[in-house]
Amino acid sequence: MDKKNIPCHIVADLLPSHMDGILSPDVEEAVVEHLANCSFCRECLQKMEQQLAEGKELSMKRDAAFIRGIRKYKHYVIGIAIGASIPLIPFIIFVIWVVVITVTGA
Ligand SMILES: [Zn+2]
Repeated sequence: MDKKNIPCHIVADLLPSHMDGILSPDVEEAVVEHLANCSFCRECLQKMEQQLAEGKELSMKRDAAFIRGIRKYKHYVIGIAIGASIPLIPFIIFVIWVVVITVTGA
């Protein structure tokens, strides 16, 4: 295969895999060589990388919002757990007291 003569549309198809680094070494080499000689495909790659970076930023923002949501929810759950356990404390003390009384056989 003449590595320098891959048509641009084929390189365009291969660019996502090239960006993911999952091309076989031969194809990768051919794509890199084509990119070195073809400003059109270099621009395509740049645009795709830009889009990917923007997409990543967006998903990172979404992840951050999701994590903040979980944190808020966690506080809520901890609050409920503490709030629910406070009325239980006198009851637990009462149970322990009853057990102690029973065991010591007052
Ligand atoms: Zn090209």
